Amino acid sequence: MPIVKANAYGHGLERVALELQSAGAKWFGVARIEEALFLREIGIHSGILVLGYTPPARVAHAVNKDISLTVYDCYVLKEYAAQAQGLQEIIKLHAKIDTGMGRLGIMLKEATDFLKYISDNECLRLEGIFTHFACADEPDKDITHMQINNFNQILKEIKKHGIATPLIHCANSAGAINFPQARFDMVRAGIALYGHPPAQSTHLPSEIFPAISWKTRLISIKQLPAGYGVSYGHRYHTKQEERIGVIAVGYGDGLRRRPGNQVLIRGKKVDIVGTVCMDQSMVQLDDLPEAQIGDEVVIMGRQNGAEISATDIADQWETINYEIICGLAARMPRYYLNGK
Ligand SMILES: *Cc1c(COP(=O)(O)O)cnc(C)c1O
Repeated sequence: MPIVKANAYGHGLERVALELQSAGAKWFGVARIEEALFLREIGIHSGILVLGYTPPARVAHAVNKDISLTVYDCYVLKEYAAQAQGLQEIIKLHAKIDTGMGRLGIMLKEATDFLKYISDNECLRLEGIFTHFACADEPDKDITHMQINNFNQILKEIKKHGIATPLIHCANSAGAINFPQARFDMVRAGIALYGHPPAQSTHLPSEIFPAISWKTRLISIKQLPAGYGVSYGHRYHTKQEERIGVIAVGYGDGLRRRPGNQVLIRGKKVDIVGTVCMDQSMVQLDDLPEAQIGDEVVIMGRQNGAEISATDIADQWETINYEIICGLAARMPRYYLNGK
C-alpha cells in the first residue's frame, strides 16, 4: 500500500498515484476523505483506505466511491453503522488497534468486542485490521517488539472468536525494513517509497534513491558596495564589495525563513544571505565568479556530484526529512522525468 497522503509527500498526488497504479499498486493509503475522492476522480480503481478520521456525515461519499475507512473508536463506529443502515449499504472498514502508539487506535482491552461488533453488523464489513508503530525507526527495538506482540495477541484472540481474518497490516517504511516479521499481508510504505530513509539509523538499499529534486534558477547578479544592507530587515551587510545573486525561491515555496540555508550552483555549495523572502532569496557568489543569470540552482538534490539531501536540510532546520518534502508548496510546478 503506497502511502500518498499530503500530495504524495509533496511529489504531486495525481501523477504519482497513476504511475503507482500502472506499476501494480493494489491499495492506496491517504489521510483524508478528500484525498481519496480525488484519487477516484483521476481514475484510481485500486482499493483506497483513509487512514485518518472521516466524519460520519461523509460515509455516503465513501460508500459511493468504494472507499474504505479506518475505525478506532466505539462512538464513531456506531455512527458509521447508523449511516450505513440509513443508506442500506455496506461500509468497508479497517480497524486500527493501539498497540502502543498512543494516537489513533482502539485500546487492547476493548479491541475484541470492537471487532466483534463490526463482524456481527450486516452493514459493516471488516476488511482489515492494522496498527501503527511509534518507534520502528529507532535503534532500540524493544518497543516495536512489544507492539508486534500485542498485535499478535489480538490476532490470536479474533481467531478464537471465529472472526474472519481480513487484511492484516502493520508496518510503515521503517517497520517494513527493520521488522520483516511485521510485514503480514501488506506494508504501508511512505517515505521509503519516495527514496528517503525514515531515520538516520535506518538505511535504504543502495538502489533506492530520492525521486525528487528541488530546483530553481539564478535570476539576478549584482556587485554590491561594502556595507550594503541585503533583504528585509538588513540582517546581512556586505563586508566588502560583494557579488550577490538572487534566486527564485522563498518561503512561499517551502524554503524556511531562517539563517544558514545553502544551495548548489555549478556543483558548489553557496550560502543564502539575508532574510529569505516569500519569492526570492539572496546568495553570496564571491567564490563563484563563473556563475551567470539562468544558472540552475539546486535546493535539494544533486548537481555535478555534489548533493544536498532532504535529510541535510532537515538537520539544518532541526526537523525530519518528511517535513521537508511535505513542505514543498503546491505552487511549484512538478516535472516528471520518467526514470531519467
Ligand atoms: C503516514 C503513514 C504511514 C507511512 O509512514 P512512512 O514512515 O512514511 O512509511 C503508514 N501508516 C500510517 C497509518 C500512516 O499514517
